Amino acid sequence: MRIAPSPTGPFHIGTARTALFNLLFARSRGGTYIVRVEDTDTARSTKEFEADILAGLEWLGLAADEGVIAGGERGASGPYRQSERGARYAAVADQLRAKGLTYPCFCTPGDLEADRKRREAAKLPPRYSGRCAAIAPEEAARRVASGEPAALRFRVKPGIVVIDDLVRGRVEIDSETLGGDLVILRADGSPLYHFTVVVDDVDMGITHVIRGEDHLSNTPKHILLFEALGAPLPRFAHLPLILNSDRTKMSKRKSQTALADYRAEGFLAEALVNFLALLGWSTGSEDEVLSMRELEERFALAHVQKAGAVFDRTRLEWLNGQWIRRLGNDELLERLRPFYERAAAAGALQRTATDEEIAVLIPLIRERIPLLSSAIDLTDFFFAGDLRHDAATLVPKRWDVDTAKQAFAAARPVIADAIGEGERPLLDAEDPLEARLRALAEASGWKAGDLFMALRVAVTGKTATPPLFDSMRILGRGRTLANLDAAAALLRAMPQGQGRHTEPSE
Ligand code: GLU
Repeated sequence: MRIAPSPTGPFHIGTARTALFNLLFARSRGGTYIVRVEDTDTARSTKEFEADILAGLEWLGLAADEGVIAGGERGASGPYRQSERGARYAAVADQLRAKGLTYPCFCTPGDLEADRKRREAAKLPPRYSGRCAAIAPEEAARRVASGEPAALRFRVKPGIVVIDDLVRGRVEIDSETLGGDLVILRADGSPLYHFTVVVDDVDMGITHVIRGEDHLSNTPKHILLFEALGAPLPRFAHLPLILNSDRTKMSKRKSQTALADYRAEGFLAEALVNFLALLGWSTGSEDEVLSMRELEERFALAHVQKAGAVFDRTRLEWLNGQWIRRLGNDELLERLRPFYERAAAAGALQRTATDEEIAVLIPLIRERIPLLSSAIDLTDFFFAGDLRHDAATLVPKRWDVDTAKQAFAAARPVIADAIGEGERPLLDAEDPLEARLRALAEASGWKAGDLFMALRVAVTGKTATPPLFDSMRILGRGRTLANLDAAAALLRAMPQGQGRHTEPSE
């Protein structure tokens, strides 16, 4: 089992899914999970992309049993980077040459381009003309010896290639459709993808090739190369494509595909693993929230679907919320801290939160944040200086400015009396402040929800916050009243009847 990423772009969510399925399958069979870096495309491969992929694999818990890991390699079948395996590819190409299964191709890029245009004009799919296939071996050898540049082509055997796919069942592809004889070495001796994949899969003893369905059309080429090398065929399993919600193919251009972007948003590795496992595989039960260990115990290729798997962001956020709730307080603190630090560095918070401050907030927010980053939106007012109120949200819909003014004036002494400085939240305990404010609302003929919403906006500047009365306790008496007074001052400056937009909550 192997994952063979090409470091030609940021770590893609689809590659992460393929890696996960390979790892789960390896675990279910007691097999080895190998990470091989396919960096033969030197123009597009970079060390930065490789580092991003390796960091992403490690973060998800998908680092190699064998192969490339951050900072090195482990295992006896290396090197595991294709850029370091050139000698091996040259040697295997020699074997194929000796068997007469290849021939040198002297077609220039210009010749090939002209062929391509001709076929395009005739509305034919691209295919090598076969021009050099029939050159007599002696003549070909003479031209090569004279220094004429030549690529090496592998002769594609005519006939039907059968793929006995573990997901898709029997798939038959006519080798006629494969585009003609295949270049395996360029004129400069550099190997091409289809060839390196097969050489490596043979050398690394790969028994199962599990990869995306986009590779299905490559597989017949690989099968012909395995056969040519006299190597046993691995079993193939092609995973369903990952689709956007409109069932179009998920692509770098249209969709958020970089794993790092999900991580930066505050998705947990646990949730992403859980979600990716369910992208094309199902437990066959109602269970949805599964840890890596549970996935390892339950995964079976037999339950991988053929149909495309829709990437449902709502489900991912739901799973993330579930996983956030499962983290212990200390663990959640560790995961939240970098989000506070980054928000402060980016100026979204005036200062970062201390561990003690985050710890106090955790019980109030853990059930309310779908993403780790949501914690910042929900709690930024604790770390702000003077609030800037939005007049439009300060006065509940059913109220006018005068009512709000009266309410703030009436609520102020109640709040001042009920909370002090440096108080801890009461959490789920009955809150005497709430009871007193409810009584005030009732006596004044206001809906408690309207009063609470007006106070929420006045004290926090926002309509969505952690529980209001605990938020006041954490802010403390001084800041709570200062915010309330600032809101009241804003109301005094407003003409009657303005700012009627807030829906009550609670
Ligand atoms: N390097 C290929 C890719 O990034 C994967 C090849 C394979 O899995 O066989 O798509």
